Amino acid sequence: MERYVNYINGEWIPSESGEFIKNTNPVNGEVLGEVTVSTAKDVDRAVQAAKEAQKKWALVPAPERADVLYEVAYLLKERKEQLAQVLTKEMGKVISEARGEVQEAIDMAYYMAGEGRRLFGETVPSELRDKFAMSVRVPVGVAGLITPWNFPIAIASWKSLPALVAGNAVVWKPASETPFLAAEFVKIYEEAGLPKGLLNLVYGSGSVVGNAIVEHPEIDLVSFTGSNEVGAKINGRAGELLKRTSLEMGGKNAVTVLEDADLDLAADGIVWSAFGTSGQRCTACSRVIVQESVKEALEQKVLQKMKTLKLGDGLDESVDVGPVINRSALEKIHEYVKIGKEEGAKLLAGGEFATESGLDKGNFYQPTLFTDVKSDMRIGQEEIFGPVVSFIPVKDLDEAIEVNNSVKFGLSSSIFTADVNKVFRAMRDFDTGIVYVNAGTTGAEIHLPFGGTKGTGNGHRDSGVASLDVFTEWRSVYVDY
Ligand code: GLU
Repeated sequence: MERYVNYINGEWIPSESGEFIKNTNPVNGEVLGEVTVSTAKDVDRAVQAAKEAQKKWALVPAPERADVLYEVAYLLKERKEQLAQVLTKEMGKVISEARGEVQEAIDMAYYMAGEGRRLFGETVPSELRDKFAMSVRVPVGVAGLITPWNFPIAIASWKSLPALVAGNAVVWKPASETPFLAAEFVKIYEEAGLPKGLLNLVYGSGSVVGNAIVEHPEIDLVSFTGSNEVGAKINGRAGELLKRTSLEMGGKNAVTVLEDADLDLAADGIVWSAFGTSGQRCTACSRVIVQESVKEALEQKVLQKMKTLKLGDGLDESVDVGPVINRSALEKIHEYVKIGKEEGAKLLAGGEFATESGLDKGNFYQPTLFTDVKSDMRIGQEEIFGPVVSFIPVKDLDEAIEVNNSVKFGLSSSIFTADVNKVFRAMRDFDTGIVYVNAGTTGAEIHLPFGGTKGTGNGHRDSGVASLDVFTEWRSVYVDY
């Protein structure tokens, strides 16, 4: 059986705990390998290595740091298929989506390598004579990265690449569900020539390793993507410690469909963004806010498309929807379906574990559609993180905007309409970090800031040039001459 161990100061070593846990394939429960279970001591060793390495790395010119990122990009590109296969096996998303995810990491590597040649500051005219005023970006120090299983390489790339190009060192805790892809990504950095100590991988639970990262006095910033529950705890503790955090959390994203929309296009967008990755995206479409006059027509089109979705092992190219990550996710999704029924929503499709032959061993849930959902029902407000979508009928665009904004999250929203005036209204009034027009709620590209408002985040962004604001400090410099 394959054994996965930490990567600290350029060495692959098991935790001092001596313990290992098994990692399984969500399609059938098959054991894929074993992973070391780390302790706070392992985190400390990683931090010490990172601290030492960072001092030298900060002195390397940024364009030279960027050269390593170009190598990372080439290697990711060369290994795209192999990485996508590991991704699918380990977390279940279908292979075409896994390829798309690895492509995101490739794009991010090129993009951030380019930033190594920019990292712009400002020069401004001083108020005074014979004085020069400018600002420069400087590294923050040691960055603690805590990443989720739903985008195990994309999100790891959104954080590690800007951190490193900006001159920081990294201590990374990947999600316990996706340890193998994390190791593959680290090997790529190693082969790309990243000096030892700059990227340290520590496997383990959030309660031990995640906690040790947040608590460690020499970790200067924590960048986290995951649940609101954990994010809120990190925020609280890091706040007490006056530690910088970047938090990217949940969503309750909606597609709005108006009566002048192309309903076929809207149905495509809904199905793809509600059931892609089995609904386990923080950007997944979880609500469809539909103008009453086209509600039934749209429901029929979506139901038609849902019937053609094939569930199964994502390695099979003909499969559209893979499993959800684990048993407890499966049970949580089913619990929400029960809640929806109790609240009086009308179930039009799905609503059960998928137990067709061959699927009963895995964590499969039927794509599910509720209609006549009221916005204030729990299934209209809470993040389900599974293949469940709720139709909420509304009179007009004003009500659609009100419903769209009625949730505590603010990640992604979309509008389908042929009216350019309504498009601009939505762009202005949807209170989310991302707005799509005539497309579903998923598929963000790495060149723009990724993140959300309200309960989704704390004002930071994970990709695009905005991510450099997480991983650099501004220093203002005045030179008298
Ligand atoms: N890249 C994904 C998208 O835009 C979002 C990542 C996530 O859901 O965590 O759909």
